[in-house]
Amino acid sequence: MSSVLRYRESCLEAQKRLEAAGVEEAALEARLLLEHVCGCERSELYLNPERELSAEEAKRFLELLGKRERRIPLQQLTGKAFFYGLEFAVNGDVLIPRSDTEILVEEAEKCLSGGENILDLCTGSGCILLSLLSRGKGLSGTGTDLSEKALAVAGENAKRLAPAAAFLQGDLFGALPESRKKSFDLIVSNPPYIASGEIPSLMPEVAEHEPLSALDGGEDGLAFYRRIAMEAGAWLKDGGRIFLEIGCDQAADVCALLEENGFAEVRVRKDYAQLDRVVCGRAEI
Ligand code: GLN
Repeated sequence: MSSVLRYRESCLEAQKRLEAAGVEEAALEARLLLEHVCGCERSELYLNPERELSAEEAKRFLELLGKRERRIPLQQLTGKAFFYGLEFAVNGDVLIPRSDTEILVEEAEKCLSGGENILDLCTGSGCILLSLLSRGKGLSGTGTDLSEKALAVAGENAKRLAPAAAFLQGDLFGALPESRKKSFDLIVSNPPYIASGEIPSLMPEVAEHEPLSALDGGEDGLAFYRRIAMEAGAWLKDGGRIFLEIGCDQAADVCALLEENGFAEVRVRKDYAQLDRVVCGRAEI
């Protein structure tokens, strides 16, 4: 690139470099990186294509572009991700919220009438719990995660989005005091569900830069569902509901696990790509 960087030219150069690095949506990502660095909106590219980047902006842009070429996810570079219409802070300690997971929030939201108490297992950035709580309705909620670092991110997000949310560190239900048994109306979770052996074949953004502990669902990917299905009934109120995100080939196994553990009304919801995405069920009454 020339020594003075101009807006449109930088965007096109960046697109080429990202394409060469194997980034799928190179044009979009080049523009988003530039907008992030220059603190401007999409219209800038069209209204002011010859705008010069300041020396500081140019330095920062090239630095982040280099990182994106090394397949560090864009959201880790900008420090934010959008989910369910809200902005979440993210870093390398949490799974980046996915649009697939919005299906789970949408399904869970349908059964809220007001005042429910929600438990989110493997909360990560807190995106599921905080999206639900931000709907108002006098809801309360707790998120648990094994990772202290993830909970620090969730806590930051809660300050802006739903300050009443509580976060507890620990292994699934192990984070909760016994006194919370039979106290939840809803359990939601997007647990790690990738089979360990499949992780190296995921795209580098995921396999190399997202936390392994947020992805790895054990040998067959079902380890967390087994434990959640077995223990959830003890923490849900009678008639309470559970919503689990699943991998698209896991519906039959996860439905069977819930049914074996006494859940009724077990069903599957597909995502917008028509892939099985969420399993839900109702605890015995
Ligand atoms: N609940 C968070 C999310 O859906 C984190 C999930 C995880 O770490 N497996 O993004």
